[in-house]
This record gives sequence, C-alpha cells and structure tokens, in this order.
Amino acid sequence: MSITHHPGDETLALFASGRLDEARSLVVATHLSLCPACRRTVRAFEDVGGAMLDTLPPETPAADALTKVLARIGTGDSVEQRKELPSPVPAEPLPAPLGAYAMGPWRWIGRGIEFRAVDVATDPGMRVFMLRAQPGTRLPRHRHKGDEWTCVFEGAFRHNLGRFGPGDFDEADEAVEHHPTVEEGVPCICLVALEGGIALQGWLGRLLQPFVRI
Ligand SMILES: [Zn+2]
Repeated sequence: MSITHHPGDETLALFASGRLDEARSLVVATHLSLCPACRRTVRAFEDVGGAMLDTLPPETPAADALTKVLARIGTGDSVEQRKELPSPVPAEPLPAPLGAYAMGPWRWIGRGIEFRAVDVATDPGMRVFMLRAQPGTRLPRHRHKGDEWTCVFEGAFRHNLGRFGPGDFDEADEAVEHHPTVEEGVPCICLVALEGGIALQGWLGRLLQPFVRI
C-alpha cells in the first residue's frame, strides 16, 4: 500500500494524548491500522506523553483517556458494549478499528453514492459514516463548514490537493474547497468524520440530513 497523505504531526500528537474526540480518533486509528510510519510517530509521542504523565499525581484523568483510546487500535476488544443497530455483519473486510462499531445498512443518497452510518458516541454535531462512490462519480463542489476527516480503504478519488487512495488520510477544514472525482476502476470506499454544527450544510449535509436526524 502506497500512502502519500498522512495526518499532521499535531493531529497525531493530539491522538497520542487522547485529546481527540472519538469520531476523529476513529478516522485516525483507521489510518494508523494501515500506516506503519504514522504508528511509529504516535509511539514516539506516547513515549514523550508517558514520561510527562509519570510526573503527574496518580489518578490523573488524562492517563485513563489515553489508555482508552489506544486500546481501540487494532483489537477493539476493550470497547464497551454498544447498542446494536439492526444490520448484518459487514460483508466487506474493514480496517480493524471499525470492527468494534455497529453500522447501519448501506443506503443510496445520490447518483453513484451510498452512505452507511457508523455508531460512534461522540459530540453533538459530529457524524461518522462510510461512503461508497461508484467509479467516475463526480461529487459536487463544496466548501466545509467544519472539519471533514476522511480515510480511504478502497479505490481512490482526486481533488485539487492530489490523489487519495487506500490508506490516505484527508484532513480538510473549512478553508478547503473540495470537488472530488472518483477514479475509474473500483468503487471508492472511505470513512468520514464530519463536523456539521447544529445543521449540516452544503450538498453533503442535504444528502445526509434524512439519515442522521440532526
Ligand atoms: Zn500515515
């Protein structure tokens, strides 16, 4: 797997210290499950963080939060029981961190685009879902109203910042204007954490509104 787009160091440091919300953490953990280079970086941040934690008094909440987030990488065994959504076990192989989460069914939300909710208990306004877009699908131009973090599992899309294939991480904020096109060949499947505020905005928000009940 040739990964060219990675989370920034600041994002990896926040992840390592357990300071990302669960939605963003899941997208980062998914990338880490596919990217040895970023796993090494996170481990280095953990060593620094661990040394700092050693200087803190016992029962510091940060230590607990860090353990909780890190426990999710790779196994998911320690994730507490979640309310099951009425859906079958996913047929396609998924990156390990996603195995701990219940998911809704795939639903068509537009020409060539399917959506599947991922049941993440997270802050109001954040939504986590998978998208599956058919080859050649051109998504409408849109500007973000908040963060939109994406990790690709299969296929690829391109936009003005490059090509995003399997394992690539796309960390877009509201300064980014997107006009992605899915490459020919195979469908593009990705995990997205989208910050929508009180109401999701733009084309994606309008498409998702009936499904996420903001
Ligand atoms: Zn990476």
